[in-house]
Amino acid sequence: MMIVMKETATPEEVEAVVAKIERAGALAHPIKGARLTVIGAIGDVEQDVNIESLGLEGQPGVDRVLPILKPYKLASAEIRHGERTVLDISGRKIGGEHFALIAGPCTVESREQTLQTARVVRDAGVTLLRGGAYKPRTSPYAFQGLGQEGLKLLAEAKAETGLPIVTELMDLRDIDDVLEVADVIQIGARNMANFPLLTEIGRSGAPALLKRGLSSTLDELLMAAEYILKEGNPNVMLCERGIRTFETDHRRVTLDIMAVPILKELSHLPVIVDPSHAAGRRDLVLPLSLAAAAAGADGIIVEVHPNPDEAVCDGPQALLADTFDEFAAAVQRTAEFAGKALSAV
Ligand code: PEP
Ligand code: MN
Repeated sequence: MMIVMKETATPEEVEAVVAKIERAGALAHPIKGARLTVIGAIGDVEQDVNIESLGLEGQPGVDRVLPILKPYKLASAEIRHGERTVLDISGRKIGGEHFALIAGPCTVESREQTLQTARVVRDAGVTLLRGGAYKPRTSPYAFQGLGQEGLKLLAEAKAETGLPIVTELMDLRDIDDVLEVADVIQIGARNMANFPLLTEIGRSGAPALLKRGLSSTLDELLMAAEYILKEGNPNVMLCERGIRTFETDHRRVTLDIMAVPILKELSHLPVIVDPSHAAGRRDLVLPLSLAAAAAGADGIIVEVHPNPDEAVCDGPQALLADTFDEFAAAVQRTAEFAGKALSAV
């Protein structure tokens, strides 16, 4: 159920409703909007019935009590009454009118490659730096990432450029190490349905970039987000990165651009697009990035390399560091055309 407080409700009145919901054995999630506070009361089906019988309608400060119709309660657009969630990553806003350009290497390979790429993307005005220290590879014989050594290099890149870091967490045993460096934890496509991982990231409170699984529906993506939100962590971005379809020629997977307006209709969470992993080809990354920005995405995440021919991972899709500033300018123009300002400090 969703308890919509009056615009005039006091913090004490909100507290009293929260306490009553918790006493009934359900979880209470107060969500403070610009105008009013909505409290999500989440339990199992029987507990929802209990909440209805708590008599909250008549309680001071309460305007209405409504059911949340979607199975993803906290991720649903309903619970924010049309307001968008705006994340604040060390002063850089993502969502609403703020467009995030996230760029960097697929994989942290060496000090020089990481720092060189970080400087190039910083100079082009990006919002966040991406880079993987732990890599989900199809082959167990492929390079698996530099691990802790990679995290140290990301910390160095952050110290030098001031850019917040997005990096992937694959294994819960690494969560403390990753949290020391990451401003945003990436949950890779292959881990979208790793529910214990999602729950722990929820508990950590760290901002999360949740990628859509290769064969996952949008509802499954939203339910995965719900695992994080349910733990009291509201800092979630959704990421469309391409899905498997019958078309296997000429591209890696199929970028589902329709996911952008649909996710924004269903959810208040920011929606990011990763054209690099969908395309697998450098030449497709610009048109797909522009399409994402034009479709209303809240940001894109792309791979960049100073020398893609020598990249240990995903070289063919990496944008060239040399011309990255032109790419960034074109994306910024399209985001502005769609009514958003590039988020940087
Ligand atoms: C990545 O971003 O480096 C990555 C492996 O992405 P995905 O999980 O979408 O394949
Ligand atoms: Mn990659």
